Amino acid sequence: MIRKVAVLGSTGSIGIQALEIIHASPELELHSLLCGSNLDLLLKQKEYYAPSIAAIASPCGNCPDDIISGQEVLQKVIDGADTVLNAIVGSAGLHASLICSDRGITLALANKESLVVGGELLRDHITAGGIIPVDSEHSTIFRCLHGELRPVRSITLTASGGSARYISVDKLQTAGADEILNHPTWDMGERITVDSATMVNKAFEVIEARWLFGGIQIDVVMHPQSIVHSFVRLEDGSWKALLGKPDMKVPLQYALQYPDRGLDLISDDSPLDWGALEFSELDNRRYPAFDSVVRAGQDGRTWPAAANAADEVAVAAFLARKISFGDITTVIEEVLAGHTASDITDLKSIMEADRASRVEAERIVKRLC
Ligand code: NAD
Ligand code: MG
Repeated sequence: MIRKVAVLGSTGSIGIQALEIIHASPELELHSLLCGSNLDLLLKQKEYYAPSIAAIASPCGNCPDDIISGQEVLQKVIDGADTVLNAIVGSAGLHASLICSDRGITLALANKESLVVGGELLRDHITAGGIIPVDSEHSTIFRCLHGELRPVRSITLTASGGSARYISVDKLQTAGADEILNHPTWDMGERITVDSATMVNKAFEVIEARWLFGGIQIDVVMHPQSIVHSFVRLEDGSWKALLGKPDMKVPLQYALQYPDRGLDLISDDSPLDWGALEFSELDNRRYPAFDSVVRAGQDGRTWPAAANAADEVAVAAFLARKISFGDITTVIEEVLAGHTASDITDLKSIMEADRASRVEAERIVKRLC
C-alpha cells in the first residue's frame, strides 16, 4: 500500500534528504510540504515534487494562491497523511507532534525538541508505538531493541564532540561561528551543529532516549569517527550496535518505511573505509553545558523547556555574532538558575515556560553583547 507522507521542515537539512528518499521510494508518496520562511526553496520543491499541499508557517504577503499560510496551517498539512515527518527545528515543532499524537498518526520524529520540552504530553503516543525516531542514535537503539527478547542492561549514546573537540579549551570560549559550524563528521542545520559543539545536543538526546526507551540506564561515550551510532548492552554483557558512515538517509528511510523493509541501498561503505574506531570518556571541562541540561532533564517539569528556550536564543545570538561561544553556556545556566518550574498539564504550560525563558535569555544576551 502507498504511504502518504507529510514533510514538515521541508527546506531544512533533514527535510531535503527526506524528499529525496520519498521521491526514490515507490511505496512512499509525498502528501504535503511545510517550511518556516524559505518561500523560494518551497516553490522549487513544490514544482519538482508536486505534493497535494505546500505551506509556509510565517506570514506570507506575496505568496502565490496555491501556497497556504496562516492559522490552522499545521492541521491542513497533516490532514490526510499516513505518516508525518517532523523535521522542524526547535520547540516550534512540538505542536505538530501533539496533533499527530491526538489523531494517532505515525510520527517519524527528527524534531527531538518535541520530546525534550513536551515528552510528558507525548507519553501515550510513544506507548502506542506511534513515534519512530529519526535521530541517528535513537534509530540505532530502536533497531537494536526491535525483536530483542533478552533483557537490556543499558544504552550508550555515542557523541562525536562536534567541532569543539578539535579546539583547545582555552580558545573555545571565544571560538567564532565559522569554526564552530565546521562539524567534522555530520553535515546538518546550523542550530544542531552548534548544539553538537556545546554537547547540548547530546544532553537533549539523553532526555529524548529517556522518553523513548524509559527505565533503561543511559550512558554517553565520545566517539569522534561517528561510525558506531550508539550501543545497546544486554544483561549477558554483550553489545549490539549499528555501524556505517554518518548518513541521515539511513535512519530517515528506516523511519519512513517502518515496519516494511527498506530495500534501497543508501550507504555503500566497508569496514576498510572506517579506520580506527576510538571511544573515550566525556570531557566535562570542554562541554560544561552538557551536565546542566541533563540535570534539567532529570528535574523534569518545565526545566527542559527553559533549557531549550535559553539555548535557542543563545545559539541565534551566537550565529548573529552577538555573543561568544562560551556565552551560550552562560545564558543556559543563568536562565536555569532563575527559572521557576511548573507542572506540565498542556501545551500552554510549556509555551509559557518557553516564552518567559526566552525573555530572560534575551535580557542576558543584551548584557553579554
Ligand atoms: P534546519 O535548520 O536545516 O531546518 C529546519 C526546518 O524547519 C526548515 O525547513 C525551516 O523552514 C523549518 N522551520 C523552522 N521554524 C518553523 C516553524 N515555526 N514552522 C514550520 N517549519 C519551521 O534543521 P535540521 O538540521 O534539518 O534539523 C531539523 C530537526 O531535526 C531538529 O530538531 C534537529 O535537532 C533534528 N535532527 C537533525 C539532524 C541533521 O542531521 N540535520 C540529525 C538529527 C536530528
Ligand atoms: Mg543525533
